[in-house]
Amino acid sequence: MKKTNEVPYKIYLEEHEMPTAWYNLRADMKNKPAPLLNPGTKQPITAGELGVVFCEELVKQELDNDTAYFPIPEEVFNFYKMYRPSPLVRAYCLEKVLDTPAKIYYKFEGNNTSGSHKLNSAIAQAYYAKKQGLKGVTTETGAGQWGTALSMACSYLGLDCKVFMVKVSYEQKPFRREVMRTYGASVTPSPSTTTQVGRKILEAHPGTTGSLGCAISEAVEAAVTSEGYRYVLGSVLNQVLLHQSIIGLETEAALKKYGIKPDVIIGCAGGGSNLGGLIAPFMRDKILGKADYRIVAVEPASCPSFTRGKFAYDFADTGMVCPLAKMYTLGSGFIPAPNHAGGLRYHGMSTILSQLYHDGYMEAISVPQTEVFKAAERFARVEGILPAPESAHAIKAAIDEAEKCRETGEEKTIVFGLTGTGYFDMVAYEKFHDGKMDDYIPTDEDLEAGFKGLPVID
Ligand SMILES: *Cc1c(COP(=O)(O)O)cnc(C)c1O
Repeated sequence: MKKTNEVPYKIYLEEHEMPTAWYNLRADMKNKPAPLLNPGTKQPITAGELGVVFCEELVKQELDNDTAYFPIPEEVFNFYKMYRPSPLVRAYCLEKVLDTPAKIYYKFEGNNTSGSHKLNSAIAQAYYAKKQGLKGVTTETGAGQWGTALSMACSYLGLDCKVFMVKVSYEQKPFRREVMRTYGASVTPSPSTTTQVGRKILEAHPGTTGSLGCAISEAVEAAVTSEGYRYVLGSVLNQVLLHQSIIGLETEAALKKYGIKPDVIIGCAGGGSNLGGLIAPFMRDKILGKADYRIVAVEPASCPSFTRGKFAYDFADTGMVCPLAKMYTLGSGFIPAPNHAGGLRYHGMSTILSQLYHDGYMEAISVPQTEVFKAAERFARVEGILPAPESAHAIKAAIDEAEKCRETGEEKTIVFGLTGTGYFDMVAYEKFHDGKMDDYIPTDEDLEAGFKGLPVID
């Protein structure tokens, strides 16, 4: 494949302002992300090994560090057209109440029934599974957004969808569960007795309410032991950042149209997919020395992978069956305190973003929970959109930047990713309103315990 560093602007079709190809940032990175390793042999994992768990086309995308643009298949493009391009909105009302000279823009990804950016990758992954002739896919969901997006995509394409939902969410978020069932997915509380790893975890920890790491292990087992099934994942992986690049490409097109150059680009970071997608074309220009932007990742103080984690090889799941990835991590055994931004509770981080952060191309900050909800409420009251708690991490950072501009008089242009809506997070908003929300921050000792479980790679 010929590698191109030039942006093929013809990829933007005038009439819908949506790119017809995804952009793979790895093609332009000077230091590529470290390869995934087989957890048994500790050798770089092969396409054949990954193909047991993941769909073929997705394995190719996962391992491709060189191809810059992947055409969006027509069926996926047509699905995108139902809810894309997503709006890039100038937050005039927020600017006014902040009395700031800064200009604030947000890219809103909550305009679809699943309520978040996750649908952008769900439809792509379901499409490749269908094309391979599979019967269905398995996955895990914590807070429920990914499971919801995937069940929508699968029902559209006529694929079976088995979701392992972290038991505590299954019980506490019955509405998300019912949305998934409405779209035809089967939802199993994890750990369950339907898998070997689930039974083992239940035996060792009777009454456990589960974790994302356990649910991943169960979903992977269900995929590899059922004929015609593969496993899909909603964040962290390179392929997911590739699909999410549509967020950044659209943002770039809209800003260009109006002749706007951002100074600061902000996004919340759980596994890194929305941020990796939003920044993709901007980071390309930064790497190539064509433009300079400040790029800021925002994470919860309760699960601070970038700001307090280690850059090391680690397991992606508790069951230690997934490949090892070199990333900023708190250790696969790290159990974050219950936190209302469920989508940001993963112990690790995208290997692409981890490498870029390590190489000094981006910054990261962490913010405490109650500050995040204050920012969410402030935003909702003037801009109208009720944000997801995850998205509100980016809002908090954008407000802080804009307030700094008020002090210094700088007319900075701030762009942030508003990843989704928070209608299913009303229990969290209730806790905030009733003053019952706390700001748990792990101690250094808590983090040390997680680091102890890091595998030794020589
Ligand atoms: C899942 C989720 C996130 C975090 O995931 P990333 O992969 O880091 O983008 C952020 N916002 C919303 C609304 C989510 O559902």
